[in-house]
Amino acid sequence: MVPTFKEYVFDFAELKLLSAVCKKCSSEIILDVTDKNLRIPNSCPSCHQEFDSVFTNALKSFFSAYSNLMGIENPQASARIRIRQKVNVSEL
Ligand SMILES: [Zn+2]
Repeated sequence: MVPTFKEYVFDFAELKLLSAVCKKCSSEIILDVTDKNLRIPNSCPSCHQEFDSVFTNALKSFFSAYSNLMGIENPQASARIRIRQKVNVSEL
């Protein structure tokens, strides 16, 4: 079977939720990227496995970049960011 891909394109500003999956228990932690008071979890809320600094620092970097990129999402900006994702729809 030949895989069939569909490309989804959305504005960066439409990104609202990010999820992290605990490698120990597979629980999915949903993070609202638009929440100004968002706290990056230090451990899994389900199994209490501590997250390492590689994970927490990567999330901190992501949220810093997110904040910077959202700063250019205004009508006066000369460009905007879009996210393009190809999905293999033959497996859905
Ligand atoms: Zn867990």
